[in-house]
Amino acid sequence: MWSATIFTLYPEMFPGPLAVSLSGDALAREIWSLETRNIREYGIGRHRAVDDTPAGGGPGMVIRADVLAQALDAGLAADDPRPRLLMSPRGRPLTQTRVRELASGPGAVLICGRFEGVDERVIEGRGLEEVSIGDYILSGGEMASLVVLDACVRLLPGVMGKQESGADESFEGGLLEYPHYTRPREWEGRAIPDVLLSGDHAKIAKWRREEAERLTRQRRPDLLR
Ligand code: SAH
Repeated sequence: MWSATIFTLYPEMFPGPLAVSLSGDALAREIWSLETRNIREYGIGRHRAVDDTPAGGGPGMVIRADVLAQALDAGLAADDPRPRLLMSPRGRPLTQTRVRELASGPGAVLICGRFEGVDERVIEGRGLEEVSIGDYILSGGEMASLVVLDACVRLLPGVMGKQESGADESFEGGLLEYPHYTRPREWEGRAIPDVLLSGDHAKIAKWRREEAERLTRQRRPDLLR
């Protein structure tokens, strides 16, 4: 079973939206599992402090290296083969290629930052891989973890039907996806392109390919490079 372990200060945020639809069904069918570990349990003192002020000054608080390391060491077997992903806006931007790699592995450990982030030394000391879900700042890593998990889980065998294997999707062929249409044939004066109703599969495939290329050139020329 593909397994996810999440280190967070807010375990109540999980499974959250992953409890419904495709990922929720797959969770119930035990295609994947989800376990949360509360970093707070390893906090220091009566108040279970997990953070402290940044060395060198400045605003905000930083999650302590010793606290997070203790949580990780207690929560994971030393030989756990799963990649340890630290949600971080400084990380390598998540791509469908990385998602495919993760989905074909044993699972993932996801670590959710809060405040200004985590002490740099625990990133080095525990070999954490920083992963970003985009160039914007969230208030915590929890939603980023949900995004990473959603993207992985839908690719696990048995989660999507054959019909929707995901092979055609945006990014899969290095291109954005072609436009979709369904009934009615005409809506508010807009018709479905004739070629899609022609029944000529070769022509349809060619049209879709061209549309995908056109959209990619227009919107995401960076993908063509
Ligand atoms: N001070 C940090 C931002 C901290 S945001 C900086 O400027 O880089 C608090 C936490 O939210 C981070 O530790 C991280 O776990 C999560 N987070 C915020 N934005 C994210 C993003 N784009 N991708 C992944 N995680 C993110």
